[in-house]
Amino acid sequence: MKYISLSKSKYCKAKQCNKILWLDKNKPEEAIDAGNESVLENGTKVGELARNYFGKYENIEFNNDLSKMILDTEVKLKNKPNIITEASFNFNNNFCSVDILKNDIDGIEIYEVKSSTDIHEIYLDDVSYQYYVLNNLNFNIKKVCIMYINSEYVRNGNLELDKLFNIEDVTEIAISKQNEIQEKIKEINEYMQKYATKEKEPEKRIGMNCFEPYGCAYWNYCTKDLPKNNVFDIRRMRKEKN
Ligand code: SF4
Repeated sequence: MKYISLSKSKYCKAKQCNKILWLDKNKPEEAIDAGNESVLENGTKVGELARNYFGKYENIEFNNDLSKMILDTEVKLKNKPNIITEASFNFNNNFCSVDILKNDIDGIEIYEVKSSTDIHEIYLDDVSYQYYVLNNLNFNIKKVCIMYINSEYVRNGNLELDKLFNIEDVTEIAISKQNEIQEKIKEINEYMQKYATKEKEPEKRIGMNCFEPYGCAYWNYCTKDLPKNNVFDIRRMRKEKN
């Protein structure tokens, strides 16, 4: 089987609904980005702050040529111990960049940064996918963690990053999800092969997965034949209000 290129964001989209990947590939113009710019902006700011959590770090600059990022990572990995942000890897067409990688002498630690004040299931899928890629590349992964905002932190003077962020060790969960990840990657590849062309559109299955964990950008497209103010529209309006 020829594997499609996956990334952690594509994997997480497919966890919500395989059809999102198909639409991204074949009908991206149908997406209506409910994008909340301030949420994105906050996420970027939090990510930048988190980079300093362990002190000095080396960043892998984004490049449209992902192989350049992977090569840069290989070079920086040799300077252990060090901290690398956006360290990038590929296993069998499964690409991922790690928000913060602690590159110790005896192994690595993976840190996924979230601007949320709690941990959602999709974050666990995200880090488990990263574990899958790096584990298959034979890294000794000592720890997989999620860094998220401590809602109880009150700044008093200088910003204290060790108090601003909570760190949750989710290594056991990531390990327990490895079979699931492998199966899901296989399923995504079979799905994208079965519906390989624009003409072969998969059936749409609207349901609660259209709202969780995120409101889907293809909602209008997938519901275009439904009467207005259907039960799903009401559910969606309620969710947007909250
Ligand atoms: S609107 Fe629902 S069915 Fe359509 S792609 Fe999004 S999640 Fe899938």
